[in-house]
Amino acid sequence: MTAVVISGANRGLGLEFARQYAADGARVFAGARDPEKADELNQAAKESDGGLSVHPLDVTDDASVRAFARAVGQAPVDVVIANAGYFGGDRQHRLGDIDYEAFAYTMSANALGALRLADAFYPNLKTARGKFIAITSGMGSISDASGGYYAYRASKAALNMICRALANDLRTDGIICAPLSPGWVRTDMGGPSAPQDAADTVREMRRRIAKYRMSDSGRFLSWDGRELDW
Ligand code: NDP
Repeated sequence: MTAVVISGANRGLGLEFARQYAADGARVFAGARDPEKADELNQAAKESDGGLSVHPLDVTDDASVRAFARAVGQAPVDVVIANAGYFGGDRQHRLGDIDYEAFAYTMSANALGALRLADAFYPNLKTARGKFIAITSGMGSISDASGGYYAYRASKAALNMICRALANDLRTDGIICAPLSPGWVRTDMGGPSAPQDAADTVREMRRRIAKYRMSDSGRFLSWDGRELDW
């Protein structure tokens, strides 16, 4: 049975990943910051008949990530979806008005959070010769010429670099690592004007993830298969 670990699974893309993998019969370990308030995820767990379990997870907290990994135990993990993300707050656009604490938090959530997951689940991924997929953003592309959103952009660029380095370092273990951009999707983060539907987008990303081979490790791809500029 395929085993999947997902961060930020209580809403948005993470919830969709959890629901869809569970509906396909995978064993899903879903992380949420506040499981008691994760109503939709808990409902999905109930309907999954034991296939989906919900675990407390704050990716900015080492101890929380380690506790999540302990709860999963030594089971091989085929796919880790490092999905949890934070958009960075309002004060990241203008010189003279940068919230540096929020900037550091954004880096910890988006970049270090994924690294913490890779670190904690490395043994499980190694046993399964699994896939570590980090949900990134086109806004982390250094080739992108637009401005503002310093914290979010920097955190996703750092995430991309971490994935690229992991891809190199974990190749000999048979672990595929790749940053995957979801496009612009209607979620709390993407907002109501986003052109893409979450369920369709996740379906497409899952289809692509399933097809990833070692030659895809370290590639920066978009949900629709386009190669993105670093
Ligand atoms: P949402 O804002 O809808 O959901 C974000 C999820 O991340 C929530 O479950 C949230 O938990 C969780 N999260 C945030 N911080 C932490 C943390 N410290 N520890 C654990 N979980 C945390 O966003 P989306 O579903 O839209 O985004 C999912 C991913 O896709 C993110 O990485 C985002 O950057 C990326 N992305 C999304 C795009 C879009 O258009 N939607 C575009 C490009 C990239 P909680 O409910 O507790 O806050």
